[in-house]
Amino acid sequence: MRKELLDSKKKSAKKLRVCMFDNCNKTAIKSHVLQKNGILREISVNNHLIQPLPPSPFETENKGVFDFKKIGVNDVYTFKGFCKEHDNDLFEVIESNENLNFDNEEQKALLSYRGLCQEIRRKEIAHEWLSDVIKACPIQSIHMMQSTMLGYKHGIENLTYFKTEFEKAIKSNDFSSFVLRTIKIPKIELCISVPLNIDDNKGIDKIPYTTSFINVFPKNNTCYIIAGFHKDYKCNWTNKFLKNISTGKRKIIFKELSDLVTTRLEFWTMSPNLFNKISDKNIKKYKKLFTDNLFNHSQSLKTELNLFRHI
Ligand SMILES: [Zn+2]
Repeated sequence: MRKELLDSKKKSAKKLRVCMFDNCNKTAIKSHVLQKNGILREISVNNHLIQPLPPSPFETENKGVFDFKKIGVNDVYTFKGFCKEHDNDLFEVIESNENLNFDNEEQKALLSYRGLCQEIRRKEIAHEWLSDVIKACPIQSIHMMQSTMLGYKHGIENLTYFKTEFEKAIKSNDFSSFVLRTIKIPKIELCISVPLNIDDNKGIDKIPYTTSFINVFPKNNTCYIIAGFHKDYKCNWTNKFLKNISTGKRKIIFKELSDLVTTRLEFWTMSPNLFNKISDKNIKKYKKLFTDNLFNHSQSLKTELNLFRHI
C-alpha cells in the first residue's frame, strides 16, 4: 500500500496541468503563490524556507508522514496554476515592486485569487490521488476514502464559484463584489494565501457557502494581512479575526496567527529564523493539535498554544 501511495503521488506531481484562468487551455507552469523574489526569497536562509507537509486524511495515523521540511525557494509555496502568459501578465502588477500598493482593490483581489486557485488545484490533485489509490486500498478504508473524495468535490465546486466571481472582477476591473481589507501588523516571517471555510452555522449543503480569503506576508519592515469575502457571503469569523488583528497588540495578533496555522490551514510557509524560535515542545503540540482538528471547521475552535509567543 505504501509503495502504491508513493508511486501515485509521484505520478500526480509530474502530470501536466492546464492553466486555470478563465477557460484557458494552455499548459500550466509552476507558479509561486506569493512573490518569489520580493517576498519568499527575502525571508529565506541560503535560499530555503520551511514548509509543513501535512498527511493526507487517510495517513493521519502515521505521524512520521507529517513534518516541517526545508524547501528551496524555487519550489517552496508553488503550484501548477497558470500558463506562462497568464502567470506573467495577470499578476504583473503584484509581482513588480514598483507598482505595489496593497490597498489597491485589484491587487488585493489578485492575491486572493491566486491563493484560491492554489487550493482548488490542491483539492483536484488530492481527489485524483485518492481515486487512484482507492483501487489498492483495504476494504475497511474504502468508505472513509469515498466520503473524503466527495468532500473534495463539494469543496472544489464551492471554490469554483468564487474563482469565477474573481475572474469576472479581474476582467471588468470592477472589484465591488469583494470586501477585502488590508491591515499592517508587526513583522513576522510567515506566508499564507488561502481561501478558508469556517462553519458559520448556515451549513455547507447549498453551494456557494461562506468562504473567506486570507493573505499574510512580510514585506520590507512590516507584514500585511489582506482578508475578506464576497459581499453576498459574509464571514463573521473573518470580521472577528480582522478586529483582533487590528488591536495593534503583538500578543493578540500573533496568537490569532498561531491559531490560524494550527487549526485552519495546511498550506503555509515560514522563514527558517521563525521556525528556529519555536521550541520542539511546541512543534510537537502543534502537530498533535493539527491532526486532532483536521476535520473540525467550527467557528469557536481555539487552542492554548501560541507558536509565535517568543518572536
Ligand atoms: Zn493561460
